[in-house]
Amino acid sequence: LVVAENVHKSFGRLEVLKGIDLEVRRGEVMCIIGPSGSGKSTFLRCVNHLEKLSAGRLWVNGELMGYRQKRGKLYELRDSEISAQRSDIGMVFQRFNLFPHLTVLGNVIEAPTQVKRVPKAEATELAMSLLERVGLPDKANTYPEQLSGGQQQRVAIARALAMEPSLMLFDEPTSALDPELVGEVLDVMRDLARAGMTMMVVTHEMGFAREVGDSLVFMDDGVVVESGVPSEVLSDPRHERTRAFLSKVL
Ligand code: ATP
Ligand code: MG
Repeated sequence: LVVAENVHKSFGRLEVLKGIDLEVRRGEVMCIIGPSGSGKSTFLRCVNHLEKLSAGRLWVNGELMGYRQKRGKLYELRDSEISAQRSDIGMVFQRFNLFPHLTVLGNVIEAPTQVKRVPKAEATELAMSLLERVGLPDKANTYPEQLSGGQQQRVAIARALAMEPSLMLFDEPTSALDPELVGEVLDVMRDLARAGMTMMVVTHEMGFAREVGDSLVFMDDGVVVESGVPSEVLSDPRHERTRAFLSKVL
């Protein structure tokens, strides 16, 4: 479902991604780990084209992100067209960026009604089933500030799912949470994975990576140092850099 081919990204003279190649199959969960500044967030942002690649190509669901192919030639998409491509990809960030002036229900139906023009009644029905799924059906009319961090993050997941994406990106979804709230968010993500959602998850939760991940990628300094089955990478890393990183976090 996701194919990255020699993805490069520079900010001015700083080369952050130095040729990333990877593939995520439909229904797979890929977890990405690596030290701070290694380019994990930048890579996720390249996947949904929040960042334009400096070089390389990236396909999601058969679409070359940011471009349209016509008679063998590539044309760059306009911002509005990129938004349409991106609506197939849900993203959940470290900090819950819910709209503070909207209720929980308002947050979840916002994108479907505004972007996809789904009728409000239909969007509300889907939203309620999603709130049920993340365990918050009774919070529909609550405002974000009245929720705990874990509840807000579950609403953020429901909001992303409301666009019925074929891919979900998570960038350290639990690292801003109090420890006792981490589990409830990971539970929702685990259920989502079981239901067959394709996911790319930047995380420091090695237990989650081991249990839920189909693959684990270790990034350092803008390259994929090593990738493989999570339990194998975690217990028997092949590279010294991976070993050094894991000895610090495990
Ligand atoms: P962390 O674990 O701390 O979240 P990360 O692996 O997600 O780290 P990135 O956020 O992708 O790392 O950042 C990689 C590098 O790119 C850093 O050196 C960062 O300063 C730089 N960088 C990221 N975004 C920009 C930007 N918009 N402009 C300039 N430099 C940037
Ligand atoms: Mg990051």
